[in-house]
Amino acid sequence: MDIKSTIGKIKQLAESGECDGGNTMLPQGRQRRGTDAAQPSDLADSLEEVFARVYRATQKTLGITPFDEQLSAAIHLSEGKMVQMQTGEGKTLTAVFAACYAALGGEKVHILTFNDYLARRDCDWMRPIYDEMGVSLGCITENTPRDERGEIYRKQVVYTTAKEAGFDYLRDFVCFDTNEMVFPEKLNFAIVDEADSILIDEARIPLVIAGDVAVRENGDMRGIYEKLADFTDTDFEMDEDTRNVYLTDSGADKAEELFDCDIYDAENAGLLAKICACLKARDVLTENKDYIVKDGAIILIDEFTGRAAPGRVFPGELQAAAEAKHDLKITSRGRIMGNIALQYFARLYPKLSGMSGTAESAREEFEKFYGILTEVIPTRLPCKRVDEPLELYYDAEEKRGKIITAIRESHEKGAPVLVGTASISESESLAEDLRKIGIECSVLNAKNNADEAKIIAAAGERGAVTISTNMAGRGVDIKLGCEDGHNKDFVTDAGGLLVIATSMRESSRITQQLRGRAGRQGDPGKSRFFAALDDEIMVKFDLKGLCGRHYPTEKIEGKIMDKAVLREAERVQRISEGDTFDDRVNLMKYTMIGEKHRELTFRRRRSLLDGTYNSEFWQKSDLYEKAAAKFPEEELQTLQNHILAALLNEFWCDYLDYTVYLREGIHLTQIAGRNPAEEYNIACEEYYNSAAETIPERMGEKLAEVLECDNLADYRLDVPSRTYTYLLDDMGEEFKAKPILSGVFSEGYEPGDSDDSDEEIPDDSEKKGFFGRLFGKKKG
Ligand code: ADP
Ligand code: MG
Repeated sequence: MDIKSTIGKIKQLAESGECDGGNTMLPQGRQRRGTDAAQPSDLADSLEEVFARVYRATQKTLGITPFDEQLSAAIHLSEGKMVQMQTGEGKTLTAVFAACYAALGGEKVHILTFNDYLARRDCDWMRPIYDEMGVSLGCITENTPRDERGEIYRKQVVYTTAKEAGFDYLRDFVCFDTNEMVFPEKLNFAIVDEADSILIDEARIPLVIAGDVAVRENGDMRGIYEKLADFTDTDFEMDEDTRNVYLTDSGADKAEELFDCDIYDAENAGLLAKICACLKARDVLTENKDYIVKDGAIILIDEFTGRAAPGRVFPGELQAAAEAKHDLKITSRGRIMGNIALQYFARLYPKLSGMSGTAESAREEFEKFYGILTEVIPTRLPCKRVDEPLELYYDAEEKRGKIITAIRESHEKGAPVLVGTASISESESLAEDLRKIGIECSVLNAKNNADEAKIIAAAGERGAVTISTNMAGRGVDIKLGCEDGHNKDFVTDAGGLLVIATSMRESSRITQQLRGRAGRQGDPGKSRFFAALDDEIMVKFDLKGLCGRHYPTEKIEGKIMDKAVLREAERVQRISEGDTFDDRVNLMKYTMIGEKHRELTFRRRRSLLDGTYNSEFWQKSDLYEKAAAKFPEEELQTLQNHILAALLNEFWCDYLDYTVYLREGIHLTQIAGRNPAEEYNIACEEYYNSAAETIPERMGEKLAEVLECDNLADYRLDVPSRTYTYLLDDMGEEFKAKPILSGVFSEGYEPGDSDDSDEEIPDDSEKKGFFGRLFGKKKG
């Protein structure tokens, strides 16, 4: 059936009241109508029925009637698609239809909102409909206590953020009691709101869980540090982008002599990493700029906030090297115990759909990275917003003057203005300039979402001037005039909301998002888009070079009218888009394998704890008989499983460190004409499988330790003394390696070539490796 007739059917069912009945459960609903019982059940039918009931529930509880556009978008959501729906068209309600349909069909639904404020708002706002439908509902935000979360995740529909859900997933990985695990083991369906921002713009941002763990002997870092005393800056080089250090030929010669080995041999990779880390700690990192030394520990300084970030550690060997530099004796340290990029977190859901005002231009990415198709829903009323073409100026100063004029003119007419800047500092300096000429404005920088939502909601008020970074206030509706519609006519006559973008952004989607804040639901509105020749992005992608002889040689007053320059400026944005797209594709070649390993490790660890699998290492040991005679066997088995789970955590920490190191150094393989992505995958696989040798040995040691206890209860499991979660900024240390990674691909190596790491690994290949041997036998 096509969408139109489906919608017709839904409305007919809703209006005739045929869909109402005593019981809200789907099977009974079918029987009640008496026809389906005899016929094979057909999904389309039940969707119409459920949608019709949500339709009526909406009218009854919220007093509004869903639009056809909302029904059609909801049908697409139910099919696991990405839906483009402009700002203000009513995406919040749309999601309820798809959520109820899935929930009543037995699926658990997570609606992932853009921030905590919106999760709470949408959940409270839509609750009457869910109640009416008999669908249980919950909401999880940063403030939700952990011990309440398990219960909430058992609800049929949960509003939360990708960040909170992702952290819960990670926290379960360091949990030893399955009763304390909160995140559903099996996921079904996620609907992502503002999908392009989570699934694309922030896709690579990793969620991290770290824990304070006892430090094991880590080679002789101090010894190595001291030996390098006479290395000078001719012995190593630093990469400007990543600030990583590499040995020059003279450095390599010196190192080979000092350590008496072939420094580039694979088996000395660890040593080489330590040497480079020591040199970096010594000559690149600066105390009180990159880190501080406090209470006998190295504490990182966040380069964006300038604040100390306790709990965060330098990656790989660098932390230990910095400690060696300051002669610190470290007994425990924060280590990254698990991480997952938002992109991969979203992919954990077997069925994924999303909504956004700007999905269309990311269509290719949604398909490539997530395998989901995009549908564009036309606006209900024709859009009256006027989008002015790019206004390009000679430099930032000239541009700022014109932006201020634009704001002032609009403000004087009484039309509200929303300005989107690229950074917090730009917002603040613009606000300062405006205050100087007597224009008061509100500045938002996504620090407090609830307060900012109020300000944004009022951004359509007569004469209001609101300055905001890209993220602030997203998802909040801007109505013209006051909330109560007071002044609406005045503001409408003044031309509606004016949106100003102050510079060209990495992707046109971001500009498009901003433009979309004006002209909602058929309102009048206007958007203006400013740029200058010296905008960061113009310099980065060499606008000057692109323009050639057309590039102005001296300062121009007013708008640049040269068509060639304007054309190239627009091209910069496309280049940037292509660039970031390629970066993401390339990065994926490196990250896929880790995802496969993580998934396997998480799953296996859980199976040890929930009793699906038993470790049998101890049974094979000579000491086992003694242990079995001393302790009750069942308890011994439980402890064995727990100890193995703890070792898996430890192994996973090592694995993460190792992959950081690999990503920093893998480009070296290109020198030998090899494909770095392939080499990287092979190296990860080998490291992962090496656990098959190390873990049995460690398990043996642990059994000996256990035997020394009088009681099993006396045995202290090696677990972190505390854990903490944080978001690693996209620009975080590790991910700075990105330019190198994408720069090393050999000519002609096409994305997708020989990269099958994203395929499901068949069961038997699993069995070949360590985990196959470890878990080859099912309990019972
Ligand atoms: P979006 O998320 O698409 O930007 P929202 O879900 O925030 O939009 O809704 C925008 C506004 O439209 C809200 O004030 C909401 O109450 C209103 N709205 C949504 N659907 C309807 C409808 N069917 N009838 C009337 N108003 C609606
Ligand atoms: Mg919204």
